[in-house]
Amino acid sequence: MLKADFHIHTHCSRCSDMKPRDIIKNALTKKYDVLGIVDHDSIKGALTTKKVAGKKILIIPGEEIKTVHGEIIVLLSDGKYNKNLLDICDRAKDENHFIVAPHPFDYLRKGVKNNIVKVKKLDALEIFNSRVLVNRFNLIARDYAEKNKIPKIVGSDAHFIEEIGNAAVFLDCEKNIDSIFDYLIKNDNLKFYCKRCSIIPHLKSNIVLPFKRIF
Ligand SMILES: [Zn+2]
Ligand SMILES: [Zn+2]
Repeated sequence: MLKADFHIHTHCSRCSDMKPRDIIKNALTKKYDVLGIVDHDSIKGALTTKKVAGKKILIIPGEEIKTVHGEIIVLLSDGKYNKNLLDICDRAKDENHFIVAPHPFDYLRKGVKNNIVKVKKLDALEIFNSRVLVNRFNLIARDYAEKNKIPKIVGSDAHFIEEIGNAAVFLDCEKNIDSIFDYLIKNDNLKFYCKRCSIIPHLKSNIVLPFKRIF
């Protein structure tokens, strides 16, 4: 059984301070086999993490792209996407990249919300995000995925080391990207581990880090 988390940031996101080496070290102690590394509008941290991980952990590089219609994750992104949601969907289809809507109904952050109908290529919906402050937003996502038969995924959205381990998807498949995506799409009874973080990591992202960057 593979243990995976498809939503992790590195210090290449301004709201995170995690170094790739520390992510791998910590994720290994927590027995992760697969990590999706998705910085805000950048694949740089993901590529470095992939190098650092070697064969120890399978890294799926990607990015969390901010569009005017909300944030969208493109796993396997080559960093050449523009910020238009419709273009992203079209291109992801052509390139066979994997689209996830993160925290889609989080009304306190930048989910796609009602723009979800515009996401023409939606491979999976994040039905649980550990950083969602109001759990009802996660429940709305779960209901939406079930009603519309959209494959489900969960993510810690870790920005700090202590957040690694907050979410996991368990996959009974081979440790390669094709098998993993195939498994995610075809199984509607996936096993998840889901734990929400406290307010502290949010304060670190929004107050402590910006303060540190100034001084
Ligand atoms: Zn962030
Ligand atoms: Zn994120």
